[in-house]
Amino acid sequence: MKRNRNVKIVATLGPASNSYEMIRKLHEAGADVFRLNMSHGSHDEIRVRHHMIRQVEEDLGSPIGILADLQGPKLRVGVFANGEEELVVGASFRLDLADVPGDVTRVTLPHKEIFDALEPGAHLLVNDGKIKLRVKDCGADFANCDVLVGGTISNRKGVNVPDVVLPLAALSDKDRKDLEFVCELGVDWLALSFVQRAADVEEARDLCRGRAAILSKIEKPNAVKVFDEILAVSDGIMVARGDLGVELPVQNVPPIQKRLVRKCRAAAKPVIVATQMLESMITSPMPTRAEVSDVATAIYEGADAIMLSAESAAGSFPIEAVQTMDNVAVEVESDPTYTEIIESSRKVVRESVADGIVAAAREIAETANIKAIVCFSQRGRTALLVSRERPRVPILALTNEVDTARRLSLTWGTNCVMTGPVDRFKDAVIGAVRAAKAQGMAGEDDLIVVTAGVPFNTPGSTNILRVAPCSERLIHAAASE
Ligand code: ATP
Ligand code: MG
Ligand code: MG
Repeated sequence: MKRNRNVKIVATLGPASNSYEMIRKLHEAGADVFRLNMSHGSHDEIRVRHHMIRQVEEDLGSPIGILADLQGPKLRVGVFANGEEELVVGASFRLDLADVPGDVTRVTLPHKEIFDALEPGAHLLVNDGKIKLRVKDCGADFANCDVLVGGTISNRKGVNVPDVVLPLAALSDKDRKDLEFVCELGVDWLALSFVQRAADVEEARDLCRGRAAILSKIEKPNAVKVFDEILAVSDGIMVARGDLGVELPVQNVPPIQKRLVRKCRAAAKPVIVATQMLESMITSPMPTRAEVSDVATAIYEGADAIMLSAESAAGSFPIEAVQTMDNVAVEVESDPTYTEIIESSRKVVRESVADGIVAAAREIAETANIKAIVCFSQRGRTALLVSRERPRVPILALTNEVDTARRLSLTWGTNCVMTGPVDRFKDAVIGAVRAAKAQGMAGEDDLIVVTAGVPFNTPGSTNILRVAPCSERLIHAAASE
């Protein structure tokens, strides 16, 4: 769906957004990609949600990205008999291995290895660090804790133990089963949680066998340390600020976010800024000023996408949250300071013919009042390179692969439209002009820039740039010259 902004919006689905109508409204309000969190919900529930997204895609006729987020080696508490409990400061709270629903005095923590590693005095942080517990005494299957910071604890909330090194594999048995399930179902992006080294990404890629693009979630101190290696083997990145701000001092997160966004942009790989962007909108129809500022900052930094978690999955105002992001994006992107920041942080890369072509396309487009850059991109690589240029004019990517169109829904500024197979350059130019006009990007008297690779149907061969008039009268003559 053509938007009047460049940054993309990812919305997590959950109980608050669990119907065809809701998903459709979220997409119409601005959600470009939907996230299915494998930590919550059964395979049957995920299958139903997946089906509803594809139905909306078919009914509205525009590609929609689906991102499946694997739980990874994340520690989570079990469930509560009442769904949730209120922990108050100074109370005692017990974690154990008993397979019994929790109450206000205890809950299951179904990870044996954590009890082996815990020691009195260790801190446990629950729900992105909102609740803080300290171990009083512990054994092989329990830990009695003091509540240092209280709050509401509910089903399957995440637990971090920053003081203790836990011996955890990158992909649990559940992750392997989930991975196979979502790859068979057909998702566009597979997000890996708690990636610590490049080998973790490669392991998942082997299992994935090209069925989805791989996105690494950066939420561990070690992932920040070896980020360049992780980026090199990933197709995209998520700055997962929830766990990152628990595993590291919270004030370290903003500089890390800035650095990671920049590196991803230089590598032409999409980057999502995630977690707590509009947290107060879980219960309020209005965001706080600080949240609006946070969303704006991610956009000014040049992130490809911004994400909603509980706001759209479990909050009371999912549509309003998407609309808020959309409004902030439109405003920020029309600010001349935004253009200045984005353009002064552009990294010049000249390693291939395609790098040169896309840079030239942007220069020409911005010099000569050209309305759009239209690129033919089979696997999406050329579209990523055009997006890296962050041009002032809209980008229209044409592809004959539906997987490419869906994956590109995460990429800054890229509108993707399906086209039939093309094998002559003349047809390509005519197709590009008609597509730009159909998208409302150009009119009869306008010019567009077209990039393509000849011979056609060879990925990675972009080698032609053409300035084409959009007039039906001139189009045939111009295309054939
Ligand atoms: P992650 O670490 O992967 O972000 P999370 O537990 O923080 O996991 P989010 O997807 O960020 O999960 O959503 C935030 C909250 O929204 C969850 O903690 C949960 O309470 C609720 N939620 C999200 N999706 C679902 C779902 N499908 N079913 C039930 N609750 C959900
Ligand atoms: Mg997380
Ligand atoms: Mg989260």
